Amino acid sequence: MKRFTSLCFYFLAVMIFSQNTFAQDTSIYNKNQVFDPLFMTHDGTEFRSANGAPGPKYWQNSVNYSIHATLDEKDTVINGNVTINYTNNSPDELKYLWLQLDQNLFNPDSRGASTTLVTGDRFDVKGYKKGGYHIESATVIYKGKTYKIDPVITDTRMQLRLPFAVKPNGDKIDVKVQYSFSIPEYGADRMGRLYTKNGVVYQLAQWYPRMCVYDAIKGWNTLPYMGLGEFYCDYGNFDYYVTVPADMIVAGSGDLQNPEQVLTATEIKRLAEARKSDSTVFIVKEDEIGNKSTRPAQKGMLTWHFKMHNSRDVSWTASKAFIWDAARINFPSGKKGISMAVYPVESKGYNAYGRATQYLKQSIEFYSKTYFEYPWNSAVAVAGVALGMEYPGIIFCSYRIGKANLWHDITHEIGHNWFPMIVGSNERRYMWMDEGMNTFINGYASNSFNHGEYGDTSNRSILGMARTMMRAKDPLMTPPESMSLRDYGQYYSKTAVGLNILRNSVIGPDRFDYAFKTYIDRWAFKHPQPNDFFRTMNDAAGEDLNWFWKEWFYETWKLDQSVKSVKYVDDKAANGALITIENLQQMALPVTLHITEENGQSNEVKLPVEVWQRDSEWTFKYNSTSPITSVVLDPHGELPDINRNNNTWKSK
Ligand SMILES: [Zn+2]
Repeated sequence: MKRFTSLCFYFLAVMIFSQNTFAQDTSIYNKNQVFDPLFMTHDGTEFRSANGAPGPKYWQNSVNYSIHATLDEKDTVINGNVTINYTNNSPDELKYLWLQLDQNLFNPDSRGASTTLVTGDRFDVKGYKKGGYHIESATVIYKGKTYKIDPVITDTRMQLRLPFAVKPNGDKIDVKVQYSFSIPEYGADRMGRLYTKNGVVYQLAQWYPRMCVYDAIKGWNTLPYMGLGEFYCDYGNFDYYVTVPADMIVAGSGDLQNPEQVLTATEIKRLAEARKSDSTVFIVKEDEIGNKSTRPAQKGMLTWHFKMHNSRDVSWTASKAFIWDAARINFPSGKKGISMAVYPVESKGYNAYGRATQYLKQSIEFYSKTYFEYPWNSAVAVAGVALGMEYPGIIFCSYRIGKANLWHDITHEIGHNWFPMIVGSNERRYMWMDEGMNTFINGYASNSFNHGEYGDTSNRSILGMARTMMRAKDPLMTPPESMSLRDYGQYYSKTAVGLNILRNSVIGPDRFDYAFKTYIDRWAFKHPQPNDFFRTMNDAAGEDLNWFWKEWFYETWKLDQSVKSVKYVDDKAANGALITIENLQQMALPVTLHITEENGQSNEVKLPVEVWQRDSEWTFKYNSTSPITSVVLDPHGELPDINRNNNTWKSK
């Protein structure tokens, strides 16, 4: 999901928290809080090893979906049925199953609606009168017998109480649900309808009942969908059919199975050209929109059939207003894929979606080369009502943006295909694990795109980070529904800045990148917890970083390093200088100093974070040869120091 930044927050923050608000002379630093021997001391288990890898008995359940859905345009309703083939790999018997009914968020009585401010918010979950699922029937098939189940529905969850128990270690059950829902116009910024000149753009997500995850941490994960907190889904194969009016084009997650039934010969030929082309090829051009020759059937409905392998979700879009273009994706293994964009005329042109296919293609190529090869064959960017929302192989971006904003939106949303679509963390509890890691990799993608055309925003301004940290009352570990809506931007920025500090100022790029990639490899298509990330980084980089995990992710501490004094051995500069630095706030980070002498010599000195294991004050000897004229802390502005006034010492 895209970060929603409001500049006025920054201006307000600057006004309220001028740097001196936190300025102080006496240190409140406590080394035992940072280097806490009681932090993360529990043993590894047979499910999750102490080194951060999945343990020898790690398990997760698997779930295959077969879905048939019809878009009823007159009533803006989806009618569907889903067959879920569920495998219980857990060591537990399951006497009941839990499913997510995400559409119930839009019921006016939902918990999300009840907890939305009177003034509304981005997720606009005040509900609307037709909102929510209508569950027509739920049945299960177990060992050849069919059972009709009366579902127990509470808010966005549905429990199916079984008249038997699904056995542990690989037993299977099929669940069938017949359902419908009215498509909200603005679906919590994740789906909905956009009315354009040539027709409605439907963005369909959270469009079928989905299994909750049963895991070794919480059992059934049944936190309700309330707005900000996203999703947690198991992996499996999807086989889905969407039936829409014949004049619409559909794009969806995964591979289209029946092009000859839903496309014209010209479109099939153009797609084949696009699969061989690094530059963008039109499949449907602007002047062809609404043209009868672009559709194989003129009346009635057409069914589009897609399949996606080993995914945690699928979404799709449909419209008769689409321009459609595409280009080849080149993967490191030599495999080829296809990058596509569908957008209304309102979004056309080189400064807008005319480059979307390239933004998508080059993002996927970068992430595949740098982190982990994209496991699917296609991806599509859709211009519509959602500001920015990610699904496997399909992303929904705002139809109104262009240039750098569109690049950043596309590279962010498709970046989510690595976090959390490949590395399947629990978004509803740990929003930093997907938004933050994604924002971190987005910065490197932006650096690499077209010789830095749009630059790196991952580190934004470190001063802005310091101000965010001064304001924030909630640590990164706070679950989304408890995080202040004013502060949720830190899931993105604070995490990304923290990972960059670890990479560039603490352990260095080589050790960081190796450990970070180890984390991705270990947890691809699995469900990591925060500790699995922390332990993998500690273990693969070979550094006990618990002090950092604690201060950065669990606390709202701030950083204020200062230069206290400069003295000379026996009062002679030629004998060397004794420089004293101080750590005034609760956070500890390594130290970089730039020292300049009267004779023109200057040097950079780096001190490890371990100097702060001693105390809040540290004196080190610098081999000066002439009087020192200045000492500057954090000369490259890498750290979110809240008071830079005390970072520089000058000789008169
Ligand atoms: Zn996001």
